[in-house]
Amino acid sequence: MDPIENAKMRDMLLNSANVKCDCGNVIFTPGFVFKRVSKLVSPSGKDETVPIDVMICTKCGKILDMYESKDSYNRILGLNADGTPLKEKSPLEV
Ligand SMILES: [Zn+2]
Repeated sequence: MDPIENAKMRDMLLNSANVKCDCGNVIFTPGFVFKRVSKLVSPSGKDETVPIDVMICTKCGKILDMYESKDSYNRILGLNADGTPLKEKSPLEV
């Protein structure tokens, strides 16, 4: 990228709003949630452990809600879509 494009990009970023945690903090650290995917539904036909990237607030420890819906956020955290605790399924349940 040339120096003018770099300057435009820098100005665009400096003039853009920060993503904030509910606590007001703007600094996050990366982490992972791991999902166990049953061989009954896995494309590979094998049990898989799949990482999902998350961002963690460095002040309060909450995982940043950066997903398209609250349902997705809850499900990434291992909850039902409505935020209630998920019942653990046996490997034979799908
Ligand atoms: Zn926070």
